[in-house]
Amino acid sequence: MHYVGRFAPSPSGPLHFGSLVAALGSYLQAHANQGHWLVRIEDIDPPREVKGSADAILRTLDAYGLHWDGEVLYQHTRYEAYQAHIDTWLDNGNAYFCQCTRRQIKDAGGIYPGTCRHRELEREQSAVRVCIDNPVHEFVDIKHGIVPLDVTMAAEDFIIKRRDGLFAYNLAVVLDDIYQGVTEVVRGADLIEPTGRQVSLYQKLGASTVSYLHLPLALNADGNKLSKQNYAPAIDNANPGPALEAALAFLGHPIPNELKGAGVEELLLWGKENWHVNMLPTDTEVITAF
Ligand code: GLU
Repeated sequence: MHYVGRFAPSPSGPLHFGSLVAALGSYLQAHANQGHWLVRIEDIDPPREVKGSADAILRTLDAYGLHWDGEVLYQHTRYEAYQAHIDTWLDNGNAYFCQCTRRQIKDAGGIYPGTCRHRELEREQSAVRVCIDNPVHEFVDIKHGIVPLDVTMAAEDFIIKRRDGLFAYNLAVVLDDIYQGVTEVVRGADLIEPTGRQVSLYQKLGASTVSYLHLPLALNADGNKLSKQNYAPAIDNANPGPALEAALAFLGHPIPNELKGAGVEELLLWGKENWHVNMLPTDTEVITAF
């Protein structure tokens, strides 16, 4: 089967070192497998979107030599497809409307107990939940082997469309990975936990699952994840070499001395030729000074 990988940033801010690691790792893994590498902008959450950041992310990928195959897919162009799947599941009893508040769920112990499954609620003012009759308790990760997941979480009928009308990440990511023919998902270890829910959706859709590789997560010196939300600094488009070298080293591939100061194309070529999953750190979290 032909390898298809992807990088799927949310446009909630500029690319920082942590997202460069995810972009670079998925790019190198795709190229090492002679595959295609796609870019998808996950713009399904307009309130959290930072204007201009989708374009800024693409410009940064370009500046770092991370050129993608084909057209960029924007999730906002896929709303009809998401809704069509939801409607099918509502019709055939695989999903249902829910009007429970956060407070009610918290009072019930924090995990949604399926209260609205048989309530036949109306569409208005409702979230949509998927019926999980096939909880997934573990999955296989290329680096980490069998990853056990929280059993109670796995059994929860989770939200696939929010009450405010926004589509949920787990639904959109699975439908799009199937739509784009993605065969392997390479991303940060912060997304290990939702993987079980995503595998449940593949099974529900009767689609063949992808393989997974979760990369170590970049933490700052305080032990917090570098993220757009905690204002991790944007990486430099004008001088990409140092961040690229640091990202290669972070992924267990420090460049040889003679390549120090080389241009991005040369660094990426070396990365493609020397990439090996065995060399990735085994930790799921790694502190970086970058
Ligand atoms: N859009 C998600 C993020 O930026 C990544 C989704 C994924 O790779 O599955 O965190």
